[in-house]
Amino acid sequence: MTATIAKIIWLAFGIAWFVLRLRPGQRARRTPVRYSGRDKREFVLLGISLTGLGVIPFVYVVAHILRFADYPVVPVLSYLGVAADCASLWLFHLTHRDLGSNWSVSLDLRERHTLVTTGIYAMVRHPMYSGFWLMALAQALLLPNWIAGPAGLVGFGILFFGRVRREEDMMIAAFGEEYRAYMARTARVVPWLY
Ligand code: SAH
Repeated sequence: MTATIAKIIWLAFGIAWFVLRLRPGQRARRTPVRYSGRDKREFVLLGISLTGLGVIPFVYVVAHILRFADYPVVPVLSYLGVAADCASLWLFHLTHRDLGSNWSVSLDLRERHTLVTTGIYAMVRHPMYSGFWLMALAQALLLPNWIAGPAGLVGFGILFFGRVRREEDMMIAAFGEEYRAYMARTARVVPWLY
Protein backbone atom coordinates (compact mmCIF):
# COMPACT_ATOMS: atom_id res chain seq x y z
CA MET A 1 0.00 0.00 0.00
CA THR A 2 1.34 3.41 -0.99
CA ALA A 3 -0.07 6.88 -0.37
CA THR A 4 -1.06 7.12 -4.05
CA ILE A 5 -3.01 3.86 -3.92
CA ALA A 6 -4.70 4.95 -0.68
CA LYS A 7 -5.74 8.22 -2.36
CA ILE A 8 -7.13 6.38 -5.39
CA ILE A 9 -9.09 4.04 -3.09
CA TRP A 10 -10.53 7.03 -1.18
CA LEU A 11 -11.58 8.63 -4.46
CA ALA A 12 -13.08 5.37 -5.79
CA PHE A 13 -15.22 4.93 -2.67
CA GLY A 14 -16.32 8.56 -2.93
CA ILE A 15 -17.47 7.99 -6.50
CA ALA A 16 -19.19 4.71 -5.56
CA TRP A 17 -21.05 6.51 -2.73
CA PHE A 18 -22.14 9.28 -5.12
CA VAL A 19 -23.41 6.77 -7.69
CA LEU A 20 -25.18 4.67 -5.05
CA ARG A 21 -27.14 7.75 -3.93
CA LEU A 22 -28.19 8.96 -7.39
CA ARG A 23 -31.29 6.80 -7.86
CA PRO A 24 -32.64 6.86 -4.29
CA GLY A 25 -32.09 10.64 -4.30
CA GLN A 26 -34.03 11.11 -7.53
CA ARG A 27 -36.82 8.88 -6.26
CA ALA A 28 -37.12 10.70 -2.93
CA ARG A 29 -37.08 14.14 -4.54
CA ARG A 30 -40.17 13.22 -6.56
CA THR A 31 -42.16 13.22 -3.30
CA PRO A 32 -42.99 16.79 -2.25
CA VAL A 33 -41.79 18.15 1.11
CA ARG A 34 -44.60 19.10 3.50
CA TYR A 35 -42.43 20.48 6.32
CA SER A 36 -38.85 21.65 6.19
CA GLY A 37 -36.55 22.38 9.11
CA ARG A 38 -33.87 23.67 6.74
CA ASP A 39 -32.53 26.95 8.04
CA LYS A 40 -29.26 28.87 8.06
CA ARG A 41 -27.87 26.63 10.77
CA GLU A 42 -28.58 23.46 8.73
CA PHE A 43 -26.97 25.09 5.70
CA VAL A 44 -23.80 25.89 7.66
CA LEU A 45 -23.66 22.41 9.24
CA LEU A 46 -24.02 20.74 5.83
CA GLY A 47 -21.27 22.99 4.46
CA ILE A 48 -18.92 22.08 7.31
CA SER A 49 -19.57 18.38 6.80
CA LEU A 50 -19.04 18.61 3.05
CA THR A 51 -15.78 20.47 3.64
CA GLY A 52 -14.45 17.81 6.01
CA LEU A 53 -15.63 14.75 4.11
CA GLY A 54 -15.18 16.08 0.59
CA VAL A 55 -13.38 19.36 -0.08
CA ILE A 56 -10.32 19.01 2.19
CA PRO A 57 -9.52 15.37 1.31
CA PHE A 58 -10.13 16.08 -2.38
CA VAL A 59 -7.71 19.01 -2.32
CA TYR A 60 -5.19 16.75 -0.54
CA VAL A 61 -5.61 14.05 -3.18
CA VAL A 62 -5.27 16.29 -6.24
CA ALA A 63 -2.95 19.08 -5.04
CA HIS A 64 0.24 19.53 -3.05
CA ILE A 65 -0.68 22.13 -0.48
CA LEU A 66 -1.29 19.76 2.45
CA ARG A 67 1.91 17.72 1.91
CA PHE A 68 3.57 19.30 4.97
CA ALA A 69 1.17 17.27 7.16
CA ASP A 70 1.90 13.89 5.53
CA TYR A 71 3.05 10.88 7.54
CA PRO A 72 4.18 7.43 6.31
CA VAL A 73 1.50 4.92 5.28
CA VAL A 74 0.70 2.24 7.86
CA PRO A 75 -0.65 -0.60 5.68
CA VAL A 76 -2.74 -2.25 8.38
CA LEU A 77 -4.56 1.05 8.97
CA SER A 78 -5.19 1.42 5.24
CA TYR A 79 -6.75 -2.05 5.05
CA LEU A 80 -8.95 -1.28 8.06
CA GLY A 81 -9.96 1.89 6.21
CA VAL A 82 -11.00 -0.13 3.17
CA ALA A 83 -13.05 -2.43 5.41
CA ALA A 84 -14.75 0.58 7.06
CA ASP A 85 -15.51 2.07 3.63
CA CYS A 86 -17.05 -1.23 2.46
CA ALA A 87 -19.20 -1.39 5.60
CA SER A 88 -20.31 2.22 5.13
CA LEU A 89 -21.38 1.60 1.51
CA TRP A 90 -23.34 -1.45 2.63
CA LEU A 91 -25.07 0.68 5.29
CA PHE A 92 -25.91 3.38 2.74
CA HIS A 93 -27.44 0.71 0.53
CA LEU A 94 -29.57 -0.66 3.38
CA THR A 95 -30.66 2.75 4.66
CA HIS A 96 -31.78 3.95 1.23
CA ARG A 97 -33.61 0.67 0.67
CA ASP A 98 -35.45 0.94 4.01
CA LEU A 99 -36.01 4.71 4.15
CA GLY A 100 -37.24 4.92 0.53
CA SER A 101 -38.82 8.24 -0.35
CA ASN A 102 -38.68 9.41 3.29
CA TRP A 103 -35.01 10.25 2.71
CA SER A 104 -33.67 13.78 2.41
CA VAL A 105 -30.29 15.45 2.71
CA SER A 106 -31.55 17.76 5.46
CA LEU A 107 -34.41 18.00 7.97
CA ASP A 108 -37.50 17.46 5.84
CA LEU A 109 -40.80 15.68 6.24
CA ARG A 110 -42.35 14.60 2.97
CA GLU A 111 -45.96 14.13 1.90
CA ARG A 112 -47.18 10.78 3.26
CA HIS A 113 -44.01 10.52 5.38
CA THR A 114 -43.96 7.22 7.23
CA LEU A 115 -41.95 6.31 10.31
CA VAL A 116 -39.54 3.52 9.38
CA THR A 117 -38.63 1.22 12.28
CA THR A 118 -37.90 -2.00 10.41
CA GLY A 119 -34.91 -3.45 8.54
CA ILE A 120 -31.70 -1.67 9.48
CA TYR A 121 -33.87 0.92 11.32
CA ALA A 122 -34.79 -1.76 13.86
CA MET A 123 -31.14 -1.87 14.97
CA VAL A 124 -30.38 1.85 15.37
CA ARG A 125 -32.42 4.95 14.62
CA HIS A 126 -29.73 6.77 12.61
CA PRO A 127 -28.06 4.06 10.52
CA MET A 128 -27.26 6.51 7.72
CA TYR A 129 -25.30 8.57 10.23
CA SER A 130 -23.59 5.34 11.37
CA GLY A 131 -22.61 5.01 7.70
CA PHE A 132 -21.20 8.53 7.64
CA TRP A 133 -19.24 7.90 10.86
CA LEU A 134 -17.74 4.80 9.22
CA MET A 135 -16.98 6.75 6.06
CA ALA A 136 -15.23 9.46 8.12
CA LEU A 137 -13.31 6.81 10.05
CA ALA A 138 -12.26 5.19 6.75
CA GLN A 139 -10.95 8.57 5.56
CA ALA A 140 -8.91 8.97 8.76
CA LEU A 141 -7.46 5.47 8.38
CA LEU A 142 -6.81 5.67 4.63
CA LEU A 143 -5.31 9.11 4.08
CA PRO A 144 -1.82 9.42 5.62
CA ASN A 145 -2.14 13.11 6.38
CA TRP A 146 -2.81 14.77 9.74
CA ILE A 147 -5.24 17.28 8.22
CA ALA A 148 -7.03 15.48 5.37
CA GLY A 149 -7.41 12.24 7.37
CA PRO A 150 -9.25 13.46 10.48
CA ALA A 151 -11.10 16.28 8.64
CA GLY A 152 -14.07 13.99 7.95
CA LEU A 153 -14.50 13.00 11.59
CA VAL A 154 -14.41 16.66 12.63
CA GLY A 155 -16.68 17.88 9.82
CA PHE A 156 -19.28 15.15 10.08
CA GLY A 157 -19.05 15.20 13.88
CA ILE A 158 -20.07 18.86 13.89
CA LEU A 159 -23.04 18.11 11.60
CA PHE A 160 -24.07 15.07 13.61
CA PHE A 161 -23.99 16.68 17.06
CA GLY A 162 -25.48 19.90 15.71
CA ARG A 163 -28.38 18.09 14.06
CA VAL A 164 -29.34 14.83 15.70
CA ARG A 165 -31.39 16.28 18.59
CA ARG A 166 -33.25 18.61 16.25
CA GLU A 167 -34.02 15.71 13.92
CA GLU A 168 -35.36 13.65 16.81
CA ASP A 169 -37.43 16.60 18.06
CA MET A 170 -38.86 16.97 14.54
CA MET A 171 -39.72 13.26 14.45
CA ILE A 172 -41.37 13.49 17.91
CA ALA A 173 -43.42 16.48 16.73
CA ALA A 174 -44.54 14.47 13.69
CA PHE A 175 -44.99 10.98 15.15
CA GLY A 176 -45.39 11.60 18.92
CA GLU A 177 -45.55 8.53 21.13
CA GLU A 178 -44.67 6.23 18.26
CA TYR A 179 -41.25 7.89 17.89
CA ARG A 180 -40.72 8.12 21.66
CA ALA A 181 -41.32 4.38 21.96
CA TYR A 182 -38.93 3.82 19.04
CA MET A 183 -36.31 5.95 20.82
CA ALA A 184 -36.77 3.96 24.01
CA ARG A 185 -35.93 0.67 22.30
CA THR A 186 -33.10 1.73 19.94
CA ALA A 187 -29.67 3.34 20.18
CA ARG A 188 -28.72 6.26 17.95
CA VAL A 189 -25.81 4.99 15.88
CA VAL A 190 -24.13 2.02 17.60
CA PRO A 191 -26.40 -0.87 18.64
CA TRP A 192 -26.71 -1.13 22.47
CA LEU A 193 -24.01 1.52 23.01
CA TYR A 194 -25.03 4.98 21.83
N1 SAH B 1 -31.18 10.08 10.61
C1 SAH B 1 -31.59 8.99 9.72
C2 SAH B 1 -32.11 9.51 8.41
C3 SAH B 1 -31.20 10.44 7.66
S1 SAH B 1 -32.00 11.19 6.27
C4 SAH B 1 -30.44 8.04 9.55
O1 SAH B 1 -29.32 8.35 9.92
O2 SAH B 1 -30.65 6.94 9.02
C5 SAH B 1 -32.79 12.54 7.08
C6 SAH B 1 -34.31 12.50 7.02
O3 SAH B 1 -34.76 11.21 7.36
C7 SAH B 1 -34.95 13.44 8.02
O4 SAH B 1 -35.30 14.63 7.37
C8 SAH B 1 -36.18 12.70 8.54
O5 SAH B 1 -37.34 13.23 7.99
C9 SAH B 1 -36.02 11.29 8.00
N2 SAH B 1 -36.04 10.24 9.02
C10 SAH B 1 -35.17 10.07 10.02
N3 SAH B 1 -35.47 8.96 10.73
C11 SAH B 1 -36.55 8.41 10.12
C12 SAH B 1 -37.33 7.24 10.37
N4 SAH B 1 -37.05 6.41 11.35
N5 SAH B 1 -38.38 7.01 9.54
C13 SAH B 1 -38.68 7.85 8.52
N6 SAH B 1 -37.98 8.96 8.25
C14 SAH B 1 -36.93 9.23 9.03
